[in-house]
Amino acid sequence: MANAVYPGSFDPVTNGHIDIIHRASRIFDSLTVSVLNNKAKSPLFSVDERVNMLKDVCRDLPNVRIDSFSGLLADYVTENGYEVVIRGLRAITDFEYELQMAQTNRKLSPKADTVFLTTSLEYAYLSSTTVREVAAFGGDISLFVPDLIADRIYAKLRPIKPE
Ligand code: ADP
Repeated sequence: MANAVYPGSFDPVTNGHIDIIHRASRIFDSLTVSVLNNKAKSPLFSVDERVNMLKDVCRDLPNVRIDSFSGLLADYVTENGYEVVIRGLRAITDFEYELQMAQTNRKLSPKADTVFLTTSLEYAYLSSTTVREVAAFGGDISLFVPDLIADRIYAKLRPIKPE
């Protein structure tokens, strides 16, 4: 059975990501969730912070480990011998970009396949960007992320945490 990797920004990890992680961990022997260190973006959380948050939310999943990478996903996949890349699909708006990326990665790393898991309906609207924006304006993010992640987001954005 296959070893899978779920790459992403996870800035921060949301309930939508966690749902994909749980479902993928039931399908594959081992799952590595890997934080992309994208130097072109200025993230809210550092790579180390994002890795630590993922470790906390995946604590109870014995076949899940957390990693990070920079550079091309295809190179990372080839170097580590992953057979499957997991991506989540929320809406048709995700599809065009994801299809292009999957096809490019298959050219660059022919031994690996991309497997898409469709979002659970209750998370279809949810993105890290939404969570950051709602939190930045002091809104309630308790439906979007676990409490321990919400605490870290508000701590980062202090002093505008709602009372
Ligand atoms: P985002 O900032 O859009 O959340 P990420 O790079 O962190 O992006 O996402 C990593 C992967 O997780 C992508 O394949 C993305 O489509 C998927 N994903 C993100 N949010 C959800 C969600 N709510 N439901 C399903 N998949 C999701």
